[in-house]
Amino acid sequence: MRKKIVAGNWKMNLTGEEYRALCKELNEISLFNALDVFVFPPMLYIADCLKKLSTIHVGAQNAYFEDKGAFTGEVSMMQLKSFGVSNVLIGHSERRMCFHETNQLLKQKVDAALKNQIQAFFCCGEPLEVRENGNYFAFVKQQLEESVFHLEAYQFKKLVLAYEPIWAIGTGKTATTEQAEEMHAEIRKWVAERYSQELANEISILYGGSCNPSNAKALFACPNVDGGLIGGASLKAEDFSVLVSKETWTI
Ligand code: PEP
Repeated sequence: MRKKIVAGNWKMNLTGEEYRALCKELNEISLFNALDVFVFPPMLYIADCLKKLSTIHVGAQNAYFEDKGAFTGEVSMMQLKSFGVSNVLIGHSERRMCFHETNQLLKQKVDAALKNQIQAFFCCGEPLEVRENGNYFAFVKQQLEESVFHLEAYQFKKLVLAYEPIWAIGTGKTATTEQAEEMHAEIRKWVAERYSQELANEISILYGGSCNPSNAKALFACPNVDGGLIGGASLKAEDFSVLVSKETWTI
């Protein structure tokens, strides 16, 4: 059975006060016990968040691939590990767009995460013009080929993949269940071709892009969608509690 996962990406949101209130509320919600639930807070909050949250796992939204040195402003995978952080987002479209992270750089980050026993949530997804010109399979396949398909099978199986069409992130324009399922099935097929059907069956592939309480149940019911990477709806405990509830996950 593949792991079912709901992960909240808080991005650069929440003041200290808002963050503390959200943690308090999150500790009170009931999580469906078949799920693994994560949040990815701003870097500054992580050490505290690890102490505050009881059943929700805490990861980093980003980290650098070098272990240490003259890289002002960066935090390394090695440093995350030394603070007990076991998960990291790699390749979020905002990192790719705002900070010019390339497939090659992301490959180095994936390698560094694995070297430090940190589970990478590797994000991929096409921009609107690629969706519209019909080349979205080739675009996403190239992202995987250039950043993660160099891994050995024993390493690859430690990843979580997240398909996040850029045109759906923060726009309120969710991919249809058909669009999400089609891409997830295709990604799983590529994993089977590159590695094995067994590994393809094991790997969790999350959907991300304007997933919210009103569309999550249908998206999570798609056979190849193993959960969600959630932006906006992870900032309100009321919304997030719906996404991690048993009702949303059972038909
Ligand atoms: C995200 O940033 O990963 C995301 C999916 O954002 P949103 O849910 O707000 O579209």
